[in-house]
Order: sequence, then C-alpha cells, then structure tokens
Amino acid sequence: AKQKGRNIFKWYETGMSKNEDEKLQIEHYLRKAIENNEFELYFQPKLNLFSNRINGVEALLRWNNPVLGMVPPDKFIPIAEETGFIIQIDEWVLEKACQQSKEWFLLDPDNPVSIAVNISPLHFRIPNFYYIVEKVLKETGLNPSLLEIEITENSIIENTEECIVCLEKLRTLGVSVSIDDFGTGYSSLNYLRKFPISSLKIDRSFIQEVSQNRENVAIVKAIMSLAQELKLKVVAEGIETYEALEILRSLGCDEIQGYLISKPLPVQEFQNMFSQRSPI
Ligand code: C2E
Ligand code: CA
Ligand code: CA
Ligand code: CA
Repeated sequence: AKQKGRNIFKWYETGMSKNEDEKLQIEHYLRKAIENNEFELYFQPKLNLFSNRINGVEALLRWNNPVLGMVPPDKFIPIAEETGFIIQIDEWVLEKACQQSKEWFLLDPDNPVSIAVNISPLHFRIPNFYYIVEKVLKETGLNPSLLEIEITENSIIENTEECIVCLEKLRTLGVSVSIDDFGTGYSSLNYLRKFPISSLKIDRSFIQEVSQNRENVAIVKAIMSLAQELKLKVVAEGIETYEALEILRSLGCDEIQGYLISKPLPVQEFQNMFSQRSPI
C-alpha cells in the first residue's frame, strides 16, 4: 500500500488527473492479472419460468488485485478492450466457464447447468473466433448445447458479413448466441432476420421499473412479441422484485436473472444454492 501511495504521488506531480492515474494503474496491473491468477468467475443463476428451475448461469468475471483490491468489470473491461487484453481475458473466461459447466455435468448428469459467457465485440473482428470456441469445446469435452455466447448488438452490426459467417459456424457447432442488453443499441431491427441467434436478453434498464412504469411494460411487451414472431427465447435480466417477476411471467418470458433469484456467486456458493433446488 505504501508503494501505491508513492506512485500516485508521482503521477499527480506530473499533472495527471485522478482518472488518468486510475486508468494507468488498471492497465498496468491488468497486464499480469492472468498469470498471477487474479481472476475468478462468479456465476449468476438463470431461472426458467416454465420449469421453475435453475438450468443455467451467466459467468461474470471478478478481478481481485493485491494492490487495487476488487476492481469492478465496468471499470476494467473498457480498458481491457482499449488495450486489446480483452482477447486473452475472454478466452480465459471461455475456457474456465466450459471447464466448470463440464464439471457440473459430471457431478450431476441429469441436471446439467448451461453456461453463458460474455464475449467482447473485438472478438468478432478476429477471423478465428469460431476456431477458439471449437478448440475449447474439444479440450473440455463440454456438450456445445450447454454453451451460450452473449454479444451486444453493436458488436455484430459493425462487420455484418463476417459476423453472419461466424455466427453460422457457431450454430453449426451447436453453440447458441444471445443478444445482450437488447434494446439499448442504436441499430435497426433488421439484423434480427439475418443473424442466426437464439435469444434476446432484455436490458435491465427496461426491467427495473417495470412495475411502476407503463412505457417500460410497453417496450417489454413489444420485445416479447417480436421474439415470438422470430422464434427467439427471451431472458430478462435485472429482476429485483416479485412484481417484476410476475409481470415478466405473465408476458411469457422464458428465463429471468437478477438479485431476486441471486446475485452472482462464487462457485461453491452457487453449488450450495443449486443443490437445494428451490430458489424461489
Ligand atoms: P452484463 O453482461 O449486462 O452483466 C449483467 C450485470 O448486471 C452484472 O454486472 C451483474 O452482476 C449485474 N446484475 C445482475 N442482476 C442484477 C440485478 O438484479 N440488479 C442490478 N442492479 N444488477 C444486476 P457485473 O458482473 O458487474 O458486470 C458488468 C458488465 O461487465 C457485464 O454486463 C458485462 O458487459 C461485463 N463483463 C462481465 N464479465 C465479463 C467477461 O467475462 N467478459 C466480458 N467481455 N465482459 C464481461
Ligand atoms: Ca451479459
Ligand atoms: Ca446485459
Ligand atoms: Ca452490459
């Protein structure tokens, strides 16, 4: 901690703002985070509203650095994207996530837990993304139907043709792809017809006030009927109240995720929760 204080002092002297200083520190420590084993995956359960069971999780990255402490993903992911580290980070996440899902499968083959992994837009600019997924699936032996990849709208709009090819290859592998933060992008909805995706994840900004806000209900309804027409599964994220749960259930939503069910948990805590089998 002493050393950290000294560094900060030096940076201030050179006239750097606190934000720039923080950014530089994050960038500096991020470089060694994988090899120093500072990352950990947390798992947030998804509840299937038809079976009332948890049948999947989203893997969310946590970074605990000895100097900086816990750094939230919203702080370090953008920096990892700027610097390109995100490529290695996402691959680490993909591998760990697939290993974990396979482990759960071996523990309890009758109740498999699918795993959703966030993949940064940058990955859709590198031509071999599909091979990376194929390689990880082969190495871990995970059934591809247990892997789901979450991407944001903006990541696929940029290079449409290449993306379609990549998504089609993923589909051929048996991996499903969902659109994360759906409704917050700037794109037209046209792409939904062209891209081989399997589900929409409604952004939590539409969900959080769904019980007090009629506009939000209207938006969620519109997304639901769009999804039905296009035969896409709908997942709602950011469910914090029973009211929101019941509204989403009544609108025909397939799966929900949010603090009402559970916050993201370290592996052992998730396993304890899962083995109890009645989250709600
Ligand atoms: P996201 O993919 O939209 O993930 C959902 C975020 O919402 C998570 O934040 C989760 O903890 C939080 N959340 C879940 N339920 C609730 C709720 O009921 N209420 C509220 N207020 N929040 C809820 P987290 O873990 O801090 O992650 C933030 C973002 O960082 C993620 O947003 C994702 O874009 C990115 N991220 C996280 N892990 C990874 C990763 O492994 N790779 C990449 N590329 N991005 C990641
Ligand atoms: Ca996500
Ligand atoms: Ca999201
Ligand atoms: Ca997000």
